Amino acid sequence: MKINYFYPEYEVVRQDSRCTRCRLCEEQCANGVHFYDEKHQVMLSEDSRCVNCHRCVATCPTRAIKIVKSDCDLKENANWSSSVMKEIYKQAESGGVLLSSMGTPNTLPVYWDKILINASQVTNPSIDPLREPMETKVFLGKQPARIRRKADGTLDCTLPPQLELSMPVMFSAMSYGSISYNAHQSLARAASALGIYYNTGEGGLHEDFYCYGANTIVQVASGRFGVHEDYLNAGAAIEIKMGQGAKPGIGGHLPGAKIVGDVSRTRMVPEGSDAISPAPHHDIYSIEDLRQLVYSLKEATHYQKPIIVKVAAVHNIAAIASGIARSGADIIAIDGFRGGTGAAPTRIRDNVGIPIELALAAVDQRLRDEGIRNEVSIVVGGSIRSATDVVKAIALGADACYIATAALLAMGCHLCRTCQAGKCNWGIATQVPELVARLNPDEASQRLIHLLTAWNHEIKELMGGMGINSIEALRGNRLMLRGVGLNEKELEILGIAHAGE
Ligand code: SF4
Ligand code: SF4
Repeated sequence: MKINYFYPEYEVVRQDSRCTRCRLCEEQCANGVHFYDEKHQVMLSEDSRCVNCHRCVATCPTRAIKIVKSDCDLKENANWSSSVMKEIYKQAESGGVLLSSMGTPNTLPVYWDKILINASQVTNPSIDPLREPMETKVFLGKQPARIRRKADGTLDCTLPPQLELSMPVMFSAMSYGSISYNAHQSLARAASALGIYYNTGEGGLHEDFYCYGANTIVQVASGRFGVHEDYLNAGAAIEIKMGQGAKPGIGGHLPGAKIVGDVSRTRMVPEGSDAISPAPHHDIYSIEDLRQLVYSLKEATHYQKPIIVKVAAVHNIAAIASGIARSGADIIAIDGFRGGTGAAPTRIRDNVGIPIELALAAVDQRLRDEGIRNEVSIVVGGSIRSATDVVKAIALGADACYIATAALLAMGCHLCRTCQAGKCNWGIATQVPELVARLNPDEASQRLIHLLTAWNHEIKELMGGMGINSIEALRGNRLMLRGVGLNEKELEILGIAHAGE
């Protein structure tokens, strides 16, 4: 007798009076939830397979379906929550490490929501962004201590290589393999149209996307998948991935099932074999070793590309960032522990790392204290959800933000958190051709452009309200922030006053 240790988490509720038996839901669900009962001529569902991705809800022509969270739950108490009990049942059955995707669902503090933004009143006028110029352009990279000009005004010095962004937001690393060809193409096209950058992640760069190189950041991770001279020179900047917010301290793993066709060629990994990036770079055990790689990459690209070093936000992040700034890197990217991923061990995703807000404040302060803040730009990611999160991050000291989950949502992702299964019904986290075809790059890139255009308007409005007309004037301006419901230590680390002060 088969025992089901717990009731399905989600239930499909179908209004029979509305259902026309068109069977579209059956065709749209890669998880096999819906099926047609010929004998009784009715649509039925296997609720245990439902991941609540809402593809059937969105495509049912008669709006006959809704998915509800089941109210048939296990008997919880303060110590043994339903999810903890279910995890034990799953491990008792599989004997394996629990895998998850996207960011942690745990209720640890989101400091962005405990920080409020200032507005000008009476003595320092606000600025109307509809009538007055507002500058959201930013440059990332080393800032020279002095600039010399010739008599005719032209530069009499060499500037370090920089990235120029029309607004302080970029698309974070998502590899081809973890996301689909169409998803990558959508990001590349949107980045080009917006004047920002997208990031290859550790999966290499598909030959079709070399034409977007001026808006591409190419990544070098511990597995070195898809890394060769043309690849390094194809992008506008190179990112060395030392860590990732969703899984600090471990490497990456793309299952062999996803290493097919172009993914295999682009990664330079044989079809069907797992692509496992080691936890450390095997040639980096010190800041001196990191410096060697930074300068090897600069050398390989004729000192024309800024080098980014990406790290996960961990306990000693300020000291780590100080070392990275001294390694010759031009940009530090810090990824907070709420960051998303295509697949991570659940225990690591939910328990390792620190919030990006605290990491950012600590790093910015440390680099200022050491007098090296202008040696590097700081880019932060790990659950940047809105224009207000961006503005708060800039005021805490960031030069720009990385977004990934928000970009996936704009393309249609419904955060079902099962990317690791490779059956994304929205055509994003999958390599199954018929699923990939569901994501239309024309529509998806336009939705990304709309999202960031809207954010840029909101950033200008928020800055105008503060009486600030440029990102440069907002950067590190913590006087513009106040905390609510935070203790003394949290306020001290964030470097902000409490509301009312
Ligand atoms: S898509 Fe909607 S109308 Fe069509 S079979 Fe499914 S529930 Fe019925
Ligand atoms: S990308 Fe697809 S599989 Fe992953 S969370 Fe979003 S909808 Fe689900």
